[in-house]
Amino acid sequence: MAFTASVISTKEWDARPPRQWAGETRPQYIIIHHTATPNPPNDVSRGTLTGAKTFTRSIQTAHVDGFGWIDSGHNFLNTTGGYLLEGRHGSLNAIKRGRSIRSSHAGSNKGNESPGIENEGTFTTYQMNAKQWDSLVELCASICSTTKISPDNIRGHRDFSPTQCPGDWLYNQLPRLRQDVRQRLGTSFIEVLREGDTGPRVKELQQILNAQGFKAGPIDGIFGEGTEDAVISFQKFHGLDADGLVGPATWKVLERVSKSPEPPTDTDSGTPTAPDTTPGGSTPLGSQTPFTQVQLLDTYKYYRELPHQTQAIQWLQAQLPQATLVEFSQKWRNQPSDPFLPLQEGSVGPEVKQAQELLQQKGFDPGPADGIYGAKTKAAVIAFQRSKGMTADGIVGAVTWPVLNLA
Ligand SMILES: [Zn+2]
Repeated sequence: MAFTASVISTKEWDARPPRQWAGETRPQYIIIHHTATPNPPNDVSRGTLTGAKTFTRSIQTAHVDGFGWIDSGHNFLNTTGGYLLEGRHGSLNAIKRGRSIRSSHAGSNKGNESPGIENEGTFTTYQMNAKQWDSLVELCASICSTTKISPDNIRGHRDFSPTQCPGDWLYNQLPRLRQDVRQRLGTSFIEVLREGDTGPRVKELQQILNAQGFKAGPIDGIFGEGTEDAVISFQKFHGLDADGLVGPATWKVLERVSKSPEPPTDTDSGTPTAPDTTPGGSTPLGSQTPFTQVQLLDTYKYYRELPHQTQAIQWLQAQLPQATLVEFSQKWRNQPSDPFLPLQEGSVGPEVKQAQELLQQKGFDPGPADGIYGAKTKAAVIAFQRSKGMTADGIVGAVTWPVLNLA
C-alpha cells in the first residue's frame, strides 16, 4: 500500500516556524504516546477539526515557549475526532520518503530517531473510540509501508524511557494494533531486516557478510551498528541502494555471492567480484593474466564514478604489501598533508616552507623559506598568480597549489 493516511500539515494548521530545522533520520520504530489530557466529553479538541488545530498549536507553544525546544516534540498527533496532524516540521514529507525527523518525544536517541505519535487522551483505563483507533491504524500502516518498518516494531513510549505513557490500556492494546496494521498492509508488505532486528535470519546475514570480507562483527544474530555498517559497505560495493535495509534486492545479491565458489581472499589472486566485461573486452584482473601496469590503469578507469569505486580501490589496495604502499606514498607524495587547508597570510608549517621553496625556484621572492606565511610570501604568491593569469588573491588553495607544483 502507499501512504494513504490523511495528515494535516504544519502549514495547514498555521504552525509557528521552527526555531531550527531538525535533521532527517532512518527510523526503526513507531512510538505510541498519549497526551495525558482529559478524555471526552472534556477532551481539548472536542472531536472537531477546529479543535484539533487549536490543540496542536497549544502543544507547539508549550514545547517551544515552555520547554525551550526548537519545535513540537512529537511527529504526529491523533485527536479524539480521528484527525491526524503533523507535529514537528518536515515530519510528513520525510515519512512519505521513508525517513523521519529527529524529534524529542522518547527521551532517548534511538526513540527520537523514530516517529512518535501522540494520541489525545489518557488511556490508563479509558478505551480509545473507534474513529481515533482507525486513524491510528491508518497512520501506522502508512508509515510501515514507506519506511518498511515491521508492524512488530510498533512500541510504546515506556519501552524507551521510565514513564506511564501511553497508559496501561493503550499499551496493552499494542499487540492488537500491530495485528490491525499488518492486516491493513496486506500481502504487499515486504519484511526487511534492519538495525534492531534479531534472530536466525540476522545470523545468516552476518555469516555471509563476514565470509565476503565485510566485517559485520560477531555472528550473534543481533543486527547492531556494526552489522548495519557492513550491510551499507556491501550495498555500495555491489552498486545497490545503500540504505542499510536488507530487502529482496540485497538478499538476492547476498545469496548469489554466498553461493559463488571462490570469494575473494588475501591469498587468492583471482577476481575481486570484478565486472564480467570491461571496456575493450579485456579482463583486467583475470587469474590467468599477469598484472601489468596498463591493466591496472584500465581497472581504475573502469571503477571511476561507479558507486562502489572507493570500496573497490580499497579492496585492491588491501591486496598490496604494506611496504609497497609506503614506498608509493613516499615516492609520489608531493601534496601537502591531509586535510589540505588553503595557505594564506598567517599560515605556518612545512607546506608553507614547501610553497616558499617552489616560489624561489621559479624566481619569485617570498623571503626566507622559513615556513611562515608573511606579507612577503603573500606578495610573491600574488606575483606568481598574476604571471599565470590566475585570480591574484595571495592565497595558495586548491587551484594555485597544483599550478605552483607543476608549472
Ligand atoms: Zn509519551
